Amino acid sequence: MSDIDPEVTQLDCSAVIADVWLLLDNECDENARKRLQGHLDNCPSCLAHYGIERQLKALVNRKCGGDQAPQGLKDRLRIEIRKTVIVHEYGEQNTDPR
Ligand SMILES: [Zn+2]
Repeated sequence: MSDIDPEVTQLDCSAVIADVWLLLDNECDENARKRLQGHLDNCPSCLAHYGIERQLKALVNRKCGGDQAPQGLKDRLRIEIRKTVIVHEYGEQNTDPR
């Protein structure tokens, strides 16, 4: 087991969001998929923010497995990611009591 590369954990989370969009919009991109999974595995805050890891991995696996991702799942992920991007851009000041 090698040490975790600190560059992975310090990767800008906005780069991860960019990779997510890339995978949603394009065919399977092996480099983007590796970056995304590597970051999610090492960035608990991203996992907590997204809360969509399982759906995201399912989508990526479907894409990379050659299956078409169902449109409903893609739409839901787009909404979740957009919310996440807004949180990242505006910080925590825009609190939304549930
Ligand atoms: Zn992150």
